Amino acid sequence: MSRSAPVVPAVLLACALTLSACTGGGAKSGSSGLRDPYFPKMGNGGYDVTHYGLTLDYDPGSDPDDNPDDNTDDNPDGDRLRGTAVITARATQDLGAFDLDLKGLHVKGVTVEGKDARWERSGQELTVHPKRDLAKGETFRTTVRYSGSPETITDPDGSEEGWLRTGDGALALGEPTGSMAWFPGNHHPSDKATYDIEITVPEGLRAVSNGELKNESTRKGRTTFSWHTAEPMASYVTTVAIGTYETRATRTKTDLPVYVAVDPSQSEASREVLAQIPEIMTWAEDTFGRYPFSSTGAIVDREGDAEYALETQNRPVFPGPPDTETLVHELAHQWYGNSVTPATWRDMWLNEGFATYAEWLWQEEHDGQSAQEIFDALYEGDHYPDATDDKDIWSFPPAEPSGPGTISDSPVYERGAMVLHKIRQKVGDDTFRALLRGWAAEHRHGNADTGEFTAYVEKLAPDEDFGEIWEDWLYGDGKPAKP
Ligand SMILES: [Zn+2]
Repeated sequence: MSRSAPVVPAVLLACALTLSACTGGGAKSGSSGLRDPYFPKMGNGGYDVTHYGLTLDYDPGSDPDDNPDDNTDDNPDGDRLRGTAVITARATQDLGAFDLDLKGLHVKGVTVEGKDARWERSGQELTVHPKRDLAKGETFRTTVRYSGSPETITDPDGSEEGWLRTGDGALALGEPTGSMAWFPGNHHPSDKATYDIEITVPEGLRAVSNGELKNESTRKGRTTFSWHTAEPMASYVTTVAIGTYETRATRTKTDLPVYVAVDPSQSEASREVLAQIPEIMTWAEDTFGRYPFSSTGAIVDREGDAEYALETQNRPVFPGPPDTETLVHELAHQWYGNSVTPATWRDMWLNEGFATYAEWLWQEEHDGQSAQEIFDALYEGDHYPDATDDKDIWSFPPAEPSGPGTISDSPVYERGAMVLHKIRQKVGDDTFRALLRGWAAEHRHGNADTGEFTAYVEKLAPDEDFGEIWEDWLYGDGKPAKP
């Protein structure tokens, strides 16, 4: 059984996807997708983004939904986003044209290196034709001016992402494809970049994003918030949360800034769990190694503002107060997912298996069930109150989700964590702890796939045979036999 997509030379790929550009001579077009096994149109070929400078102006609309119990959007066209994206990238081939991913919104103009560029749109592809060809290795700046009411995107699994209207503003969530709803870019986890995100909103509202808040100023009834992310970030973990927030800035024991933004209606119920962030960070640094980013925190919106928590970089988003395990899970993702980022969406278990196992470890070390007990309960089928959930764990192997609609299903999370537990059983606690730290260090601020993971484990414990774990637990169909 083949475990990887067929390898197609990049040049052939570019021509296959943009035939006309390849027959006309001159520099070729970058491909319009990266052939991700689950989301083939996401991302684009021919360049590597190093920095996004986003200047956004958002107005929630003249008819805001002011009933806090009603999170449905009764005025979808009333909001307006105006944006300028300055994208710094390096050409990885000679380029006559290249694509950006952008869903919805109206493009007003595009320049490359300050010169007006011709562009056209087709679906989520914004194809840019610079005035002159770009040479391989050249760093170039593309500026896209755009506006409109950003879209909410429904995922293959039925959940909503992209731009979500909330009772008092908006919330941007991007896993796996939602970020193209609010800025043009190379929207695939394999192309990480640094960011400056500046957002202007009506006075009285706040705009919270990734990284650190560098400036906040109010002029003529509008407030501008400037956020800076110095470490590489995948676009699916970018966020903007606009609304009424109570914010608090503190520090951990190791002097790491903690910035927390909470919807006032959630403030009381969130206080105790959010106060655990410094303690969780100390435990996580001890367990996973040095923290990869310059600040941490959380954003808590109202229940119903989003359907799920997400590990947005630096500060995860929660719909309502999280429980401690969920907070541990999303903070663990800062190492596993945000710093060590999956090479493709097939490698999602490297995010979710680790973050789920972090919950198990936390419970084991804080008077809860041991990881072994959780593993046994999952294997025996009595971990969940609903028996169907237990069966779902065996519906496909963690390393090969059955389709784009199942990359967030139980085999990726719980069975992914079970793979890690099987490794722990084989190598023992000390080597397993070295694995947790070493894997995070080896690919810090990078990307990695499942093949690199299994190779890493085999190198760490060269005397052990992991064949059965890989074949039965990681790649095997159905429930593995009891050892
Ligand atoms: Zn997760």
